[in-house]
Amino acid sequence: MASHLRTAYLDALGIDRWVARNAPPVEEGPAVVMPDAPTIETPARALAPAATPVLVPRAPLPANIDWDPLRAAVASCTACDLCKTRTQTVFGVGNVRAEWLVIGEAPGAEEDRQGEPFVGRAGQLLNSMLLAIGLPRETVFIANILKCRPPGNRDPKPEEVARCLPFLSAQIALLKPKIMLAVGRIAAQNLLATDAPLARLRGKLHTFGEANTPLVITYHPAYLLRTPGDKRKAWEDLKFARSTYARIAGGVTGGGA
Ligand code: SF4
Repeated sequence: MASHLRTAYLDALGIDRWVARNAPPVEEGPAVVMPDAPTIETPARALAPAATPVLVPRAPLPANIDWDPLRAAVASCTACDLCKTRTQTVFGVGNVRAEWLVIGEAPGAEEDRQGEPFVGRAGQLLNSMLLAIGLPRETVFIANILKCRPPGNRDPKPEEVARCLPFLSAQIALLKPKIMLAVGRIAAQNLLATDAPLARLRGKLHTFGEANTPLVITYHPAYLLRTPGDKRKAWEDLKFARSTYARIAGGVTGGGA
């Protein structure tokens, strides 16, 4: 990435850039020491929230469902009460051959209006976060745990999550990402089937599902907008995710063609 672009994105993240006196500008952000051998957590075996009754969508998804039928199934879903208050479902967006899958919590008001995840200020910050590690938004796939907006942006209820997770599970099965980045507590806890706080989930390499897909946890951009002091920790998470991906994919970033 051009140095001026990276500089702009790091500025958006609120990351200070340390430059030696009389030294030429550098492209990288601050030197953040990440553990050489990060802890590998026990794989999360199932997409089910902890201590939650396992429900199924009203119409079970066919095995090996393809993208278009899956989109149609989400668009017509009435498996939980959120269908009564949504403007539209928010399926997800991005490159269906992407190697990176970014997973957030649920649509907010603007996402509900536009039908796309991570738009508005939080979306712009997510775009900046991804670009800072060399990933234009269109090279990744972005989805949420829930496909419909909880009224008032309240936390998803366990039964809503249980009803909706089969859709995300199908998206993961289709995409087969090389790495997953969960942004925010709700996404992290549901993917890992844990009640552990975000602070205990960050900074570790988790794995997900039968494929043991690497899973990195970081803050939700909406939280970072409210708490800019944690942007530096988010930058550490992003660098960790980037280095993890580089290890497993031979250093090539971005999605498929
Ligand atoms: Fe269906 Fe998920 Fe929307 Fe509930 S949140 S109505 S399960 S798509």
